[in-house]
Formats: sequence, C-alpha cells, structure tokens
Amino acid sequence: MNKRPEPKLFDVLSAEQITPNMRRVTIGGPAMTTFPAGQDGGYVKLMLPGADEKPVVRTYTIRRQSADALDIDFALHGDHGSGGPAVSWAKTVTPGETIRVGGPGPAKPLAPGADWYLAAGDMTALPAIAVNLEALHEDAVGDAVIEIQSEADRQNLLHPEGIRLHWVINPEPGHHPQAFDEAVRAIEWRKGRVYAWCATEFETMRRVRAYLREERGLGPNQLYVSSYWKQGLGEDQHKVLKRADAEEKTLGPVSAAPI
Ligand SMILES: Cc1cc2nc3c(=O)[nH]c(=O)nc-3n(C[C@H](O)[C@H](O)[C@H](O)COP(=O)(O)OP(=O)(O)OC[C@H]3O[C@@H](n4cnc5c(N)ncnc54)[C@H](O)[C@@H]3O)c2cc1C
Repeated sequence: MNKRPEPKLFDVLSAEQITPNMRRVTIGGPAMTTFPAGQDGGYVKLMLPGADEKPVVRTYTIRRQSADALDIDFALHGDHGSGGPAVSWAKTVTPGETIRVGGPGPAKPLAPGADWYLAAGDMTALPAIAVNLEALHEDAVGDAVIEIQSEADRQNLLHPEGIRLHWVINPEPGHHPQAFDEAVRAIEWRKGRVYAWCATEFETMRRVRAYLREERGLGPNQLYVSSYWKQGLGEDQHKVLKRADAEEKTLGPVSAAPI
C-alpha cells in the first residue's frame, strides 16, 4: 500500500494582494528539492496552526509552480474578508514564517480533443481555471464563466483567443446560487463534443451539475464537477457532506433499478 508522503515544512517567501479579494502567498525553501515538478493546478493540504497543537487542514490549488516556489491564491471571504483559519493565516502571515504542507494531489485539467470547452467556477476555482485555460491548445474554443466578488477582482488570464471569458459579480459568495447557474445556462450551447469543468460552492455546484448532467446529458468522460466549499460549513464538515453526496449520486441509479 502506498503511504502518503509526510507533510513538508515550507518557508513563506512573500504575501501580496493581487486583487481586492484575492491574496497570493508564495512558499518555498528546502522543501522544494523533494517536491515533484509540474504540479500547477494540483492541490496541497495546508496544515494551519490550530488549538491544542492539532493543525487545521485546508485545501488549496497550486496556482503556479517554479523551480523554487509555489504560488497559492486565497479568495478572501467573511465579513471584511475575515474568513476562516486559512484566510486569517493568508492575511497575517509574513515572510520568514513556516507552514507544513501535505500533497500534492492531482490537477483536474480540461481533457484534450474536445470541440469546445465550458469552464465554470467561483474565486476558489479561479486558480485552477487559470491553470487549465493556460494549458489549452491555442486553437481551443469555448467559454469560461467565473464568479468574482467585485469588478476589480477580474484577472488577466492567459487563454486561447477562442475562449470567451464571462465574469459574474457576486459580492456575497455562497449566496444567490441561482445567479451563477443562470449565467452558465445563458452560455450558447455550441455544436460538437463539449468538455465541461465546474468547481464552486456546494449548492451552486448541485444546480450546475443538474444542468450539465441531466439536462445536457454529459457523462463522466465529458464532465468534471466538484464542490470546493459549502456555505456555512468549515472544510471538515464540507468533506463529510461531499462524500455523502458522491455516494448518493453513485447509488442513485442502482437503488432505482428493478429488484
Ligand atoms: C481541491 C480544492 C482546491 C481549492 N483551491 C482553492 C484555492 O486555490 N483558493 C481558494 O481560495 N480556495 C480554494 N479551495 C476552497 C477552500 O479550501 C475553502 O474555501 C476553505 O473552506 C477556506 O478555508 P477557511 O479556513 O478560510 O474557511 P473555513 O473554516 O473552511 O470556513 C469558515 C466559514 O467560511 C465559509 N467559507 C469558506 N470558504 C468560503 C469562500 N470561498 N467564500 C465564502 N465563504 C466561505 C464557510 O462556509 C464557513 O462558514 C479549494 C478547495 C478544494 C477542495
């Protein structure tokens, strides 16, 4: 059985605001010598300081990996961006501090060879969407629907000319899931084989998933869909709900079959 690699101790190299509601923390140091190369878009587990020496674990995407560093972009949330443990850490951490980091886990790229692409997500998925659009073939066409908290949170993403970006403003992430769902539904459904990718808040994800799976009939080889967080729940409780949702989805057709 493969044993998970032990979390490694990284140095915080810098922390900077990249848009009003997105903060980038760059980590590196000696741990990079044993960190596998080419993990852009993969995820890491940040072991944040918690009570009673028990770390609080939060999952984040590797926005960019260089030879000696990883960039991690934190969507700031909560009243005045106060957020949970991950966001408070990102807002207050200073260069020279350290953090234990587990992973990496695999990236979820856009499958090659589709006639067109539909990528959808909120600010927590913006790092993954950015990596995925950068990796597309220059002739790729499609649409990316991205929810941000304010107009000023738009980023200059590298993407093929044929990919259209649609920014959806929602100052209250996790609320008004129907607005994002409607924005995805408003995208013109192009001809040919689509590959769709969606990562967002749980309730929003369920709506978009129902549209793509049930109404558009996309199967698993044409669709990646995931919830990255759940309004009102911390990451641990969200994980439990996510597992139950996955089981329900797997068991659904089986339990509906004639006995
Ligand atoms: C594979 C994967 C990759 C991810 N990559 C990123 C990434 O690159 N950047 C990123 O910012 N997030 C990313 N996330 C989401 C991130 O892990 C969660 O948002 C996490 O819950 C934030 O931790 P916290 O300690 O700040 O808040 P928690 O303690 O987990 O939650 C505290 C409260 O804040 C709410 N909350 C949590 N996140 C948000 C949010 N984004 N907006 C509004 N309310 C929120 C919760 O519902 C809860 O009520 C990723 C998640 C997964 C599963």
